[in-house]
Amino acid sequence: MIATTNPATGRVEETYRPHTDADVDLAIARSVVAFERLKQTSIAERAAWMNKAADILEADASLFGRLMTVEMGKPLVQAEAEARKCARACRYYADNAADILADEPVPTERARSFRRILPLGPVLAVMPWNYPFWQVVRFAAPALMAGNTGLLKHASNVPQCALALQDLFERAGFPNGAFQTLLIGGSKVERVLRDPRVRAATLTGSEPAGASVAAICGSEIKPTLLELGGSDAFIVMPSADLDAAVETAVASRTKNNGQSCIAAKRFIVHADVYDAFRDRLQSAFEALSVGDPMDADTDIGPLVSADAATELSEQIERAVAQGARRLTGAVPLDRDGSYFQPGILEGITSDMDAYAQELFGPVAMLFEVDGLDAAIALANDSDFGLGSSIFTQDEAEIERAFDEIEAGSTFVNAMTSSDPRLPFGGIKHSGYGRELAREGLLAFCNIKTCAVA
Ligand code: NAP
Repeated sequence: MIATTNPATGRVEETYRPHTDADVDLAIARSVVAFERLKQTSIAERAAWMNKAADILEADASLFGRLMTVEMGKPLVQAEAEARKCARACRYYADNAADILADEPVPTERARSFRRILPLGPVLAVMPWNYPFWQVVRFAAPALMAGNTGLLKHASNVPQCALALQDLFERAGFPNGAFQTLLIGGSKVERVLRDPRVRAATLTGSEPAGASVAAICGSEIKPTLLELGGSDAFIVMPSADLDAAVETAVASRTKNNGQSCIAAKRFIVHADVYDAFRDRLQSAFEALSVGDPMDADTDIGPLVSADAATELSEQIERAVAQGARRLTGAVPLDRDGSYFQPGILEGITSDMDAYAQELFGPVAMLFEVDGLDAAIALANDSDFGLGSSIFTQDEAEIERAFDEIEAGSTFVNAMTSSDPRLPFGGIKHSGYGRELAREGLLAFCNIKTCAVA
């Protein structure tokens, strides 16, 4: 079902008729026509439209924020901030695309040789609900600046956000059809991927969805970019500023109601500071306010759906049954809506299911280690490799973290976050390819070798 179900109440607010195969075919045809037009436009023209999109995102941040909060439950303050962050990404690409896309001469023995960067055509973006604007814009802004067109298959629970994003790029001035939303479920994605007019695909979401899209695209010889799950390590060493570490740990684990791919999920703490860190983390978790996401004082709103709350609860009950200790919270709340009390688990060992799982909600897993070797070994003992953090003042430890933690990013004395100026992506089962920065602009381009004898 493609519908808006408010997770704060459990009420279905709006349902949508899914697009038929004929609707989708028409959208792809429009995308091809728009690609031919967009290719002919200058980067300056595209930049003007992209800046207009940023203006709209800023002006309508509270409207867009409400859409996000109603559809997926994040606190309104965070949703409005997400719209403004999207504006910053649009401006980054408006300002930098010309430089990144410029011909790059390469001296050889030939009269001329250089790289020219050309767009590929229509790209399908399969996107998740957790950052319903940001995930889409971080694909769309570079794709459109490069001259590609976008087809968005958004998560089925955020159709209003999906439609608002199509409207955003139309209002900004991009050619009709340059960015379109397909209201289809996951089972209809294969048909789009196999359409020869669709040249590439990107997916942000779970491992099974990513593996399916990559397998189909593999058989069609089409490029893919995957941004999948994570269970990021957050290492705390004895020299850390503990106040900063605890404050950042809470923010990272609970932002977006705990449903962020790059949230710190595994807190790996040196024995010298373990008790102090654990006690402060517990107090901070117990002070969080869980409630109506429209309320400015709320730290944590509901999980995205009743199913999500049930799944998280089952993961935790199983961990506890297998011997983990529930330090605080980590239980669904008995009230309307899919609210979940933030919590902390400790005593998790490698034979427990939770050890290897991503907990997609506000529940921290706490581990005690006796040194950096053990901390890095534990951080790397995961199929995931998205982000990572380390809190330390020791330069040698910082360098080892940069070199040895198996992840797409390592942040020191800070939480992992995305920034349009820095590349973003994972390794191992967290996916491949990079979004944002220069890499994100080149992700769906033909880097053509041009040579004149
Ligand atoms: P999901 O079920 O994989 O859904 C993501 C998108 O994929 C939705 O549009 C969904 O459509 C679609 N989809 C699902 N199964 C599919 C299939 N077999 N073929 C094609 N499309 C399919 O993900 P989720 O559970 O909602 O999202 C949470 C996951 O995303 C977490 O693991 C999180 O860590 C990850 N994530 C990663 C990043 C990153 O940047 N690395 C960012 C955010 C989230 P329907 O809604 O119609 O099913």
